[in-house]
Amino acid sequence: MFTEILVRYDEIALKKRNRGWFEGLLLNNMKSAMSDIGRAYKFRGRMAVEIKGPEFTDEAVKRLSFIPGISSFSPAFKLPLDASFEEIVEKSLVLCREALEEKRDTMKVICRRSNKKYPGTSIEIQKQLAEGVLSRMQGLFKVSMKDYSFALEIEIDTSGIFLFSKRIAGIRGLPAGCAGEFLSLLSGGIDSPVASFLTMRRGGKVHYISFYSPPYTGEESMKKLEDLAKQLKKYQGASTKLYIAPLIDIQLLIKARCIEGYRTILFRRMMFKIAERIALTNGYSALITGEALSQVASQTIENLTCINDAVKKLPVLRPLITSEKIETIALAEKIGTFEISARNCADSCTAFLPRSPIVRGKLERVLEQEKKLEPEIFSLIDDSIANVRIIDV
Ligand code: ATP
Ligand code: MG
Repeated sequence: MFTEILVRYDEIALKKRNRGWFEGLLLNNMKSAMSDIGRAYKFRGRMAVEIKGPEFTDEAVKRLSFIPGISSFSPAFKLPLDASFEEIVEKSLVLCREALEEKRDTMKVICRRSNKKYPGTSIEIQKQLAEGVLSRMQGLFKVSMKDYSFALEIEIDTSGIFLFSKRIAGIRGLPAGCAGEFLSLLSGGIDSPVASFLTMRRGGKVHYISFYSPPYTGEESMKKLEDLAKQLKKYQGASTKLYIAPLIDIQLLIKARCIEGYRTILFRRMMFKIAERIALTNGYSALITGEALSQVASQTIENLTCINDAVKKLPVLRPLITSEKIETIALAEKIGTFEISARNCADSCTAFLPRSPIVRGKLERVLEQEKKLEPEIFSLIDDSIANVRIIDV
């Protein structure tokens, strides 16, 4: 039934630095997330979305719940500043009836009047609206300033009058993009999309790199990666890049020359080396992975140490390092990546999985193995970078 959503953002986080710039980023991110179902706009201290029709309210609520930087929001009725008292009461009654249906029958009226040109004080408006509503609801509501289950809120802003009764929690965090641009190693799994999202929530704008090994990985793997990146783009501004880098020749060389148990570590090191070079060339300031401590053989602290050593100049952020898988899955479901990740198709590491991977790798052994790849490995890395396919998602 609503056609507007009033959006609040965390003013304390925003005040720290350049407020206008933060607000601009958040507004742009909201605009791109809402473009097909509504129009996001800003006015003093608030933002709002005008939805194309009430049938899109649920979808808008779902999306706003996961846009970093939003602290809370309220589906609302919006009236023009010259709306009559009768019109205000009429819309309020719709909210009252909804509250009664939900057995919320202890009311408090709250007025916030940020538009100081509007006649009357907040207290006067509150009192007048409470009387107007209660006289028409014939004793169906109790009133309590403290223990209320139904807050009838009226906000008079420069843009209009908003009436609402629910505040839905946003994901908080900071607008994606305010902390810089990052490169996320995106596999087709469940973890790396969630790690990318968590980075956005701390202000990162995320681009993606994925390694593929044709003919072991086919078109459906590619489509899956693109769909993941597309889904994740909903939480940050437009123009995300997906770099697809070939790994097959490097993998074949590793397979031919190195001890089988060290393969996964060596594959990962090569992925890191290529990712770091692409990040440095494009001005991205960190790598992101979906690694979680002790989750699989390649993620023991010893193996993470061996893998991490391949990156020399950039920090590697691992937002999920101490997460429980079940929590990661729950978040993946909420942000809409789980369904895509669950599609069954090969990723480039499954193609050459060692029968028994080393669990506690030693860096000297790894470097010894890696030495066996020289000198060909240098040109293979260059080739992979030269043959990267860049998709504008
Ligand atoms: P995910 O669910 O993200 O695949 P995982 O628990 O399956 O994670 P691994 O397969 O060991 O763990 O991968 C660890 C991390 O390495 C991934 O989260 C991802 O960041 C990166 N990674 C693995 N395979 C690829 C790939 N083919 N392309 C890009 N990054 C990859
Ligand atoms: Mg995986």
